Amino acid sequence: MAEIQLENISKVYPGADAPAVDALNLQIGKGEILTLLGPSGCGKTTTLRLIAGFEAPDSGAVFFDGRNVVGVPPQKRSIGMVFQDYALFPHLNVYDNVGFGLGRCKNRRRRIGSMIDLVGLAGLERQMPGRLSGGQQGRVALARALVPGPAVILLDEPFSSLDADLRVRIQREVTAIIKKAGTTALFVTHDQREAMTISDRIAVMEKGRLHQVGTPRGIYQHPETEFVATFVGRSNLLRGRIGADGRSITTEVGTVPCRHTHERKPGDEVIFCIRPCGFERDSRGPICGRIVKTAFIGENTDALLAVNSAESRKPVQFLVHIHPEEEVRVGEEVCFRVLPYFVAVVSEKGEKDENVCK
Ligand code: ATP
Repeated sequence: MAEIQLENISKVYPGADAPAVDALNLQIGKGEILTLLGPSGCGKTTTLRLIAGFEAPDSGAVFFDGRNVVGVPPQKRSIGMVFQDYALFPHLNVYDNVGFGLGRCKNRRRRIGSMIDLVGLAGLERQMPGRLSGGQQGRVALARALVPGPAVILLDEPFSSLDADLRVRIQREVTAIIKKAGTTALFVTHDQREAMTISDRIAVMEKGRLHQVGTPRGIYQHPETEFVATFVGRSNLLRGRIGADGRSITTEVGTVPCRHTHERKPGDEVIFCIRPCGFERDSRGPICGRIVKTAFIGENTDALLAVNSAESRKPVQFLVHIHPEEEVRVGEEVCFRVLPYFVAVVSEKGEKDENVCK
């Protein structure tokens, strides 16, 4: 396993108007699982290909354990890759597929055998890929990538062809296998739920740039930009002013508590987000309004709450999550208190004004 570091790395494809990857700095710790998360075309695969050596950067450096590998060909970088469609050899059985990446080496049989054990495919060594389930095929691809003991394993949307149930199971299995193998891993996905499930840390990208790198909890509780607040989970974005205590935020619908550490001073105007799960029903709570829409989605009810504003004739609307046991009807007047853990001040980088509740 290796520590991977990207230093100010940029890539512009010939004829493109904008860089696919733009001055990106990122560090992936030894044995860490990090996921690049972002919408289609934001530069995730290009970043992965720059690490693999399939693309050369226009500027910047890629370090594997402190060694700059720019100019080193992919086959000399000690990388394992798992592709979207797994790319198994259809004419080779499980054993030979796994052994393909190993070539001639000492203890070859033992290494292939213990890798097949690790991914839970013992007994299926002679099976051909066409007779395996999607999940089993994924595990063969993973075993083939891991068996040479790569410095880093790169996985580009490896679960996207699986149906929802299997996908969740395989996500857990694959991350457990990678952790057992102790390999540094970089995943690419545009699915935020998947990123939250599999990652130690997530790097959120948009238009070739990084918005934020953090743990799933950190990214969810304290998104740093409007883009992260709306791309990773759902958010209510609002304008307000930092209160005299430096913590609370005064808004047109009342004062909202906030525990997020930020550099804004009392009186500063800010944009901040409240996650829908940050509202708790409380008859004495300060945020009161009328329910204008509901949708029961099992784990909670999504409700749209219209709260009268002190400044404008138009009410401010909030998306709130209501516990599934609680009944709530359209037209009902309901009060909430806001949980400070789910309130964060965000910057306007990647501004999306249409999401501001005004
Ligand atoms: P997706 O999730 O759709 O795979 P992505 O986030 O992985 O997208 P990239 O594939 O890295 O994004 O693409 C980033 C940008 O670079 C896009 O605008 C894409 O059209 C462009 N691009 C990617 N590969 C090439 C290429 N070989 N030549 C020219 N432009 C490219």
